Amino acid sequence: MDIDKIERGWLEVLYGKAISDDPIFLFAPVLWLGLMVVNYLLFDRGRDAAFKRKWFPRSVVFNGVAFTLMATAGTVLEQRSLDGLWMLIIFAPGAFMVSLHLIHTTRFCDYCGSTVNSTDRFSPPRTCQSCGAILKDHFGGSDDRVD
Ligand SMILES: [Zn+2]
Repeated sequence: MDIDKIERGWLEVLYGKAISDDPIFLFAPVLWLGLMVVNYLLFDRGRDAAFKRKWFPRSVVFNGVAFTLMATAGTVLEQRSLDGLWMLIIFAPGAFMVSLHLIHTTRFCDYCGSTVNSTDRFSPPRTCQSCGAILKDHFGGSDDRVD
């Protein structure tokens, strides 16, 4: 059995189309999985709210940039042409909006250390879903607003 052929077949199923032989097409999913594991350990399992408040926005921006670069590089390599750089126009604003939304709607509890994602789609959570404490914004201030 040809392991290489099987692996490529699996990736073709994943992406729904034939992929080229460039190593990036095998690297990207592995790199992405690694980022997901690191993010999960640091920001979902971790209990240090101050650490999360400092590093979560940076991590989100890093992930957004990494996604944009990988997706664009993938397109350029697949098309074997720099025309693929046009995909930046689609990927970059998309990643920017998702990152902004994620940072805006995620808070960290100082009392229990939980990561709290908003249940309301567009506004940040006010209280911790685990312990009920009032949550601070990313700058350590309060999110008091008039509804
Ligand atoms: Zn809490």
